Amino acid sequence: MPSLHLNGITKQFAQHTALHDMSLTVRDGEIFTLLGPSGCGKSTTLWSIAGLHRPDSGSIAFGDRVVFDHGRVNIEPEHRNCGVVFQSYAIWPHMSVAENVGYPLKLRKTPRAERDRRVQEVLELVELDRHAGRYPHELSGGQQQRVALARALAHPPDMLLLDEPFSNLDAKLRDRSRQWLKTLQSQVGVTTVFVTHDQDEALSVSDRVAVMDHGKVRQVGTPTEIYEHPADLFVADFVGTANILSAEVVQADGTHAVIRVDGVGEPLKVPHTGKRLGPVKICVRPENVDIHRVVSDVDLPTAALTARVDNQAYLGDHYRYTIRIGGSPVIVTTTRPATTGELTVSLPPEDIRVFHEEADSNEENHHAPVH
Ligand code: ATP
Repeated sequence: MPSLHLNGITKQFAQHTALHDMSLTVRDGEIFTLLGPSGCGKSTTLWSIAGLHRPDSGSIAFGDRVVFDHGRVNIEPEHRNCGVVFQSYAIWPHMSVAENVGYPLKLRKTPRAERDRRVQEVLELVELDRHAGRYPHELSGGQQQRVALARALAHPPDMLLLDEPFSNLDAKLRDRSRQWLKTLQSQVGVTTVFVTHDQDEALSVSDRVAVMDHGKVRQVGTPTEIYEHPADLFVADFVGTANILSAEVVQADGTHAVIRVDGVGEPLKVPHTGKRLGPVKICVRPENVDIHRVVSDVDLPTAALTARVDNQAYLGDHYRYTIRIGGSPVIVTTTRPATTGELTVSLPPEDIRVFHEEADSNEENHHAPVH
């Protein structure tokens, strides 16, 4: 299966620039997710790959095959060989499951016997072979979405492009569908670009993720890189829950920094590759806040502080507390109940990420490169 290369793609809609000089590489056979808030340009990127939008600059190649090069090449959508699934599924209501799935092969004038064999094969793949004769109204939402996927795979595509395909499903079915897609994709091995604004979905299905904002890519990385080493405050805040606190770098040698966090008495020595001093924002994840005391005393480190619980929620497998550090709300998650209305916590230096405020990003912090 080919890799995918986007080079310097810009797309303008009247006065609005939806994509700014965007470059990306999706590796052969990976599930690559475009993640970002509504309007950041995810669908515009996907549509440009499919040939449904014509960018205003740049080029797009599937492996060595250039499908778009501004002013020179623009392969029509039907000749790009992309399997596309949209949020709405768009399956034909008057066709049976088998007819829907076989339709792209019929358009390509694939001989009947071969068509039937391939329809049977992909329906087995999506576990719908027993429902081949049913009509869409006789299927559940999840089954309809699998018909749409089977149809996208019927004529083996070079690229599978999925635009929020699970957003109409309920939470449980969505979760099952993600697992199922991951398994299916590993069997088929097709290079897949997946669009979502749901960070859980992005982290759970993807080999790599591009986090987008206002038509630009902020960071590309594996789910772990994106979550544990966000390139900037936007990524930290958008992916997962981030506690963002004001602090000041008072010493920095290029490998560590000594920071003073508002509301925390002791300075903290944190890993940090920058050398700049001054005001910063730090980010720490709720599950990384060290909880020393919930109901009983233990030996406390000097940097520990006791804070009142402003707010608490029982979420079945864990508790989620909101406490205050230096006037800022901090979310803490733990499996232990706080019976006193107080938590004694400290911030774990190794899990603190430091961002200089004015740039809203810190290139020194880029553990995962932006490609
Ligand atoms: P969502 O998650 O809401 O689907 P998205 O990240 O997929 O959002 P896009 O649909 O790519 O965002 O849109 C990017 C920007 O371009 C938005 O500001 C949108 O309003 C604008 N846009 C998209 N398509 C058109 C169009 N055909 N004409 C004018 N503006 C458009």
